[in-house]
Formats: sequence, structure tokens, C-alpha cells
Amino acid sequence: TGDGVCVSLTLSSDLLEKIKRSGAETVALQFPEGLKRKASLFSEQLKKEGYRVIISGNPCWGACDLDLEILGQADILVHFGHAPVGEYDRVIYEPYFQEIDTGSLNKVLPHISSGNISVVTTVQHAPQIDEIIEFFRSEGYSCTTGEASERTPYRGQVLGCTYSAAKNTGADEILYIGTGVFHAIGVKLATGIKVTAFDPVTGEIQVIDESKMLRVRFAKIEKARSADNIAIIVSTKSGQRREDLAERLWSLSKRADIVYIKEITPDALLNLGYGAYVNTACPRLAYDDNVRFPAPLLSPEEYEILLGVREWEDYEIDEIVR
Ligand code: SF4
Repeated sequence: TGDGVCVSLTLSSDLLEKIKRSGAETVALQFPEGLKRKASLFSEQLKKEGYRVIISGNPCWGACDLDLEILGQADILVHFGHAPVGEYDRVIYEPYFQEIDTGSLNKVLPHISSGNISVVTTVQHAPQIDEIIEFFRSEGYSCTTGEASERTPYRGQVLGCTYSAAKNTGADEILYIGTGVFHAIGVKLATGIKVTAFDPVTGEIQVIDESKMLRVRFAKIEKARSADNIAIIVSTKSGQRREDLAERLWSLSKRADIVYIKEITPDALLNLGYGAYVNTACPRLAYDDNVRFPAPLLSPEEYEILLGVREWEDYEIDEIVR
């Protein structure tokens, strides 16, 4: 637990009911990296209910990364921690919610300069979006949020690859509630208006400045210009596979190769040995993890800039839209 955050350690009765209704005998469990250590705790509870349990130990960073192969050994897969990114047979999503104390939002008020705001958050806090909106309205603000989308099924929810809930709300500025600043920078780049980030765990508040990230991205594009060869990466993960995009990018310059990879790691790219890569998998790999990779890893939009079919002034953050 952290400041104002409450974490549940028991399986919800809702989930137990869904598993029971499925008629499953063997249940596979999949956890994102941050929750993997809870696997034995949840397995224990299911075993007491009479189920056989198997665990997916593969890396997992989102609901875009379902371990569908494990369904060969199980009747049902329970994916913990994330809201659905697409519907699949025999998969139950169990999002992980963390309740925040809306009173802690008082700290944010001095950092907001407009009376017309919208709020966005990650799935952990999305069920509280109406309570959060109500808090700001009771403080005299006009406050709203954006609608759900196919990849973000909760109102006000954003993902590191989908910012639709932040767009077109008519607000003058946005408050992002969640840990880290990556989503907040994404919201800023996707909307162009002032974004303030509030971390409900640490209490930290920052007005987002995307200029440092843009400088890094500009330098990556320039470095990629001198690459002898370029690979366009396609992920084979369930919710990251953007073959059509890869084909479109390839058609812009057939000098590139298309490479299929499941786990895009520094070692995998080092062994392939290309001078630069274009990432059509999880957008965060290019932006967030760039220092780990041995060669520039460009977003699709950055590759278009490199090829001269997009101007730097038209820079956009990469989003997976479907
Ligand atoms: Fe998260 Fe990346 Fe998956 Fe989007 S593609 S849900 S940002 S891990």
C-alpha cells in the first residue's frame, strides 16, 4: 500500500462466479510484471475452491499481451491487472483497482490555472472517475472526461497506446492521475493543451513539459538517417500486432525489411544487427525504453519524418487505434 492507496489481496466474488460459470476445471493465471508475486496467493485461493491452477511465467506488460498459448493446457485464462484490449474466447480479464482518497486532490488545486478542466487516469483508478469529477465540480470547476474506446473500456481511461479519452472534451487543460509521467506526456502530445500529472501514490505533482522527450526523438531520427539498413518490427502479441501499418510503412521505402518478433529486447535487436528499427509494436518501447536499445528505435510517425513524407512540425505520438 502507499499514501491513499488500498490494494486488495483476495479474489473478488465476481471473478470466482465468472470462473464457476465457465465450467473450467483447469484455470491459467497471467499477471503483469508488477503483480507476478501475487500468483501463489491467488493460486492458493483457487485451489481451495477445487480448481487446478497453472501460471503463465512469460513477461507481460499489458492486456495486449495475452498468453493464448497456455490455453492449450487450461480451460480458461484469467488475465489480471488490466482492462480488456479486445475480446477473446475463454479469457476473463480481472482489472486491478487501487482506490485513491479524493481528498488528496486538494493538493492539485493550486497547480490548475483554468476553471474548465478534464481528468484522465489509468485503469487502476478509472472506476472512481465520477467521484473525481464530482470533487472538482464541488470546488467550482467545470470538469469532464472523455468517453471509453475499444482499447480503453472505462470512461476517462488512458493507456500508453491510446489517449482517446483525453481528446475533444472542450477542456482548456487536463489533469492526469496516475503513476509516472509517460501517460501524461502522451496526453500532452495527443492534445497539445496544458497537462498536469498527479501521482496518487507519492503525492508528486508536475506540469508536463514534453520538450526534453521531443529533443531525444529528434536526435534518434537524425541518427537513424545514417543507418545502412532498417528493419520494421511487427509484434506477434495479441493486441500489438499491426501488420497493416508495417506494410504501409514498407511500401514507402522498400529498402526496409519487415521482422516479426514476440519479445522485443535489446539482445534481440543486437543479434539482428540492423542500423535502425521502426517499431509497430507497443509504442512505449520506442519512447520509454530507447536508452536500452543498441540502435535507434523509431515510431511509425518518426519513420515518416525520416523518409520525408511527414514534417517534424506534424509530429504525433504513436497510438494503436482500432
Ligand atoms: Fe500498454 Fe503497450 Fe500494451 Fe498499449 S501496447 S496496452 S501501452 S503494453
